[in-house]
Amino acid sequence: MQRILVGLLAASLSLLGLPLRAENRTAPKGPDEDGTKPALVRIAGEGLLNSHAFGFLTELSDDIGGRVTGTPADRQAEEWGVAKMKSLGLENVHTEQYTIWRGWTRGTAEGEILAPVHHRLQIDAMGWTGSTPAGGAEGDVVRVNMFDIENELKNVSRLKGKIALVTAKGQPPQNEMNLFALFGDFLKAAGTARVLAVIGGQGGGKSSGMNLTHTGILGFNADFAVPVVSMTAEDQGLLERFLDRGITPHVRFNVQNTFTNGPVQTANVIGEIRGREHPEQVFVVGGHLDSWDLAEGTTDNGSGIATTLGAAEAIMRSGQRPRRTIRFVLFTGEEQGLDGSFAYVKEHKAEMANHLGDLILDFGQGPVKGFQLGGRDDLVELFQPFVNSLSNFQKLQVDDKVESGTDTLPFSMGGLPGINMLQDTSDYRYTHHSAADALEAQQADVLTRNATLMALAAFWIADRPERFASPWPAERTARMLRAQHEYEELKAFNLWPFGDLGLEEKKENPQN
Ligand SMILES: [Zn+2]
Repeated sequence: MQRILVGLLAASLSLLGLPLRAENRTAPKGPDEDGTKPALVRIAGEGLLNSHAFGFLTELSDDIGGRVTGTPADRQAEEWGVAKMKSLGLENVHTEQYTIWRGWTRGTAEGEILAPVHHRLQIDAMGWTGSTPAGGAEGDVVRVNMFDIENELKNVSRLKGKIALVTAKGQPPQNEMNLFALFGDFLKAAGTARVLAVIGGQGGGKSSGMNLTHTGILGFNADFAVPVVSMTAEDQGLLERFLDRGITPHVRFNVQNTFTNGPVQTANVIGEIRGREHPEQVFVVGGHLDSWDLAEGTTDNGSGIATTLGAAEAIMRSGQRPRRTIRFVLFTGEEQGLDGSFAYVKEHKAEMANHLGDLILDFGQGPVKGFQLGGRDDLVELFQPFVNSLSNFQKLQVDDKVESGTDTLPFSMGGLPGINMLQDTSDYRYTHHSAADALEAQQADVLTRNATLMALAAFWIADRPERFASPWPAERTARMLRAQHEYEELKAFNLWPFGDLGLEEKKENPQN
């Protein structure tokens, strides 16, 4: 669901300096020393010269298009995923059904400034938000400061009958990630206080420019009765300039969306390459099949799906079978709160001790520039020789950062490496959840290289002689989440302790 917060793209790669270890420890082995190299060479050849990843992406984008979780297009995408996995020759291909709390369908969204000028506004509804009265609603625009959201929450009654324009003034508060949770509280209160509508994106964020709106969910499994719209940066700038001059714009919105009355069904799509020595040990590889609906959902996350299927294709065509099972999973429900990956770890609770982690590509269309090992600092040194072996192919960075905005998170919360393939993806700020998220945004050669990298990483992790990772105990994971500043946000969203996995912290240790 990748929240891009106000003025801040959270991802900043820090190259970890590797500590010098005592000499009596054997250095971790890479593909040159651990026997995996010949298989990897074959996989790289298939991946680079014989790939159909871009064809998969074209089918998913053009023939199915936008596929919001729980809609007929979602089901169509699941069927497509099953057929594709079978055609690649994966084993044990099946779907795993689950439900999300309620479904939502976008209707129309129109807006205009009535005074001091006449101007048509470009808006789109945020996902799982409500409607204005059928004929629309008009009111004065009042500014709300995202960086002072706690006070705004206390004074929400001043917004009754108004249209709230969310802006970011001054310094961000200490714990910026908590803003996402507080913004949800604000929207609930705004609905109760009969605010007509709210202008503001995910986490209160502003649009990217280029006259694009960006839809998205506003919490984990969160819906709001108040209509919330994403407005283009250009139109939002116009409203702000009027307000700066002491002029109150009078605006009319007509926004219509529908909710289902109850839960809706969806499913993860799963297929495997069974391990030749330890089939019960599983490494998960995937992306998310669901998307938003303003365009084709190509970069978020059709690219991840095509990368995953391209990786599966490369390994299958190479004829190489890894020591352990590689399980390819096309998750749904990611955009509503990582629902597919949470459903997966719940469904496979008994099996999680046998998991090695997961590997996800969900950062858009750019080339992979690094691997983030999802909290597991103990694995950085182990992973480095693999990355070094690819130095002629791609320069790659490795760190232990947790990525909480995609299907890596439930695995990291389970104490496993939820590995994020970080991408160099400056265009993503335009295509992310916008009308520009179409096939034009993805270059075929970049996709093919990403798919090959995913295949190589997945195969090496599953095939190396020693098991790559086992789950950490909950206490150690909790310490890691605290150190990575994820803990407070997970608490705020009631995601920790991780009850579904039976993970409870035994004790808190403030020293570390
Ligand atoms: Zn995504």
